[in-house]
Amino acid sequence: MVTRVLNFIGNEDVAPHSRAYIPKLNPHNGEQICELARSGKEDVDRAVEVAERAQSLWAATPGVKRGEVLFDIAQRMQVRQKEIAQIVALETGKSLKDALGETGAAISQAFFMAGEGQRFFGRTTVSGVANRYPVVVREPVGVCGLIIAANTPVANVAWKVFPAIICGNAAILKASEDTPLTAWIMGKVISESALPPGVLTILHGFGNEVGAPLVAHPRVQLISFTGSTNVGRQIAKAAGERLAKVCLELGGKNALVVCEDADLDNAVKWALLSSFSNAGQRCAASSRLLVFDSVYEKFKTQLLEKIASLKVGPADEDDYGPVINQKQLANMLASIEQAKAAGAKVLVGGTRLTDEKHRNGYYISPTLIEEAQPGDEISRNELFGPITCLYRVRDFDHAVKLANESEYGLTAAIHTKNYHRAYEFARRVQSGVVSINAGTHGSEPHMPFGGVKNSGNGGREPGPEALDVYSNLKVVYHNVDPKGV
Ligand code: NAD
Repeated sequence: MVTRVLNFIGNEDVAPHSRAYIPKLNPHNGEQICELARSGKEDVDRAVEVAERAQSLWAATPGVKRGEVLFDIAQRMQVRQKEIAQIVALETGKSLKDALGETGAAISQAFFMAGEGQRFFGRTTVSGVANRYPVVVREPVGVCGLIIAANTPVANVAWKVFPAIICGNAAILKASEDTPLTAWIMGKVISESALPPGVLTILHGFGNEVGAPLVAHPRVQLISFTGSTNVGRQIAKAAGERLAKVCLELGGKNALVVCEDADLDNAVKWALLSSFSNAGQRCAASSRLLVFDSVYEKFKTQLLEKIASLKVGPADEDDYGPVINQKQLANMLASIEQAKAAGAKVLVGGTRLTDEKHRNGYYISPTLIEEAQPGDEISRNELFGPITCLYRVRDFDHAVKLANESEYGLTAAIHTKNYHRAYEFARRVQSGVVSINAGTHGSEPHMPFGGVKNSGNGGREPGPEALDVYSNLKVVYHNVDPKGV
């Protein structure tokens, strides 16, 4: 592993134009792990030159061959799964077990997208004009700027880089400043494959310094972004100004509904996992638990019992680790204080862990809040931490109303034994994914994932739907003259 992470341009490690570096701290103990390139506009310009040259040749490589290269990358990731996962664990503070699971998902994404190289379906259709035969084909978009968050760093790379390259694009990845090493190891693994140099570039640095010029660059045809809704809005504005294609995968304030007929043990199990796994740093985390009045107290008691047994730390036997950085930690604690001042009650947690094992890391105790009003900040804003709120609901209609009373619409879940109610919830809830009698979570690598309302702008990245993000469609009319035969 390196202690200084440089940019990866044309398969080479390249120092940033600024010659400046940003320290990356270990969220578990606050110690410096490495430093990363503090890149800017000059680095973006250089990356675009290289990517543009590589892209035209890569686009001319048949889709099946591109799939073979990606298949090779997937196999290389498999061989080095543990090494990649160790880096993910180190720089996020999550357990190796969770990091291995995440790396496994990234590998599945690589295999799935490799197969898309053989499918790569367009469409044949019919014309209203005699002897005219239309087909719809896919073409690459060009140079794609991919900007990602830190929460699941290797999965986030996979979700964007693999569909981008299978479609014949060059990818310029702007890694999260909180997880540079994961991007670095992915660059190393990929550089050993047959992917031509320049098809993948990795830039490091702060969002406003290197992300913004990437978004603004006139020769970057597509921006795909995973991150907060606020930054997504700025990106949409800047890219919209120059009419670039934009895909936004943004935040969530996801509701998990527990009805009076739910299997309460199962509901508690999923509420716990959905709220606290990955320290709540999941766009799909359950941060609003909407519980029918008649089972509210029972559910609360059972959930509190389970929360009391949660173990917090970076080891495999722990349930979740630290949050990613000091700033996020401070924001979350401030939001909890603000909620208390507004009249909410913290049932458990709400503080930084300061015992010997945790005091140097960015650890928050598992936090359960009740009596927050639906219009309060804590009910509306995504916190992205191990914090969840309980709300009483009168009945099904009230639950649906509250679930939908959010600016976000990413995922949702309902716990009930009533088939009609489950189906009706799935139909009426405003979200991109809904689960019945389970947790709030994303989708598998072969399925579309994304949200509605402020959770995104309609793009879906995993699954074959990702091909629509990363390719342009062209209609080709074959006009035949039967007399010319
Ligand atoms: P963030 O928006 O602060 O940063 C995300 C990325 O954007 C980082 O790489 C950052 O450097 C970059 N960035 C910041 N400002 C920028 C700018 N002005 N121009 C260009 N790039 C800029 O988000 P975060 O705190 O790192 O991640 C958490 C957020 O990501 C949460 O809202 C979470 O819900 C969301 N998320 C969404 C999904 C999804 O699929 N919908 C998945 C994971 C995370």
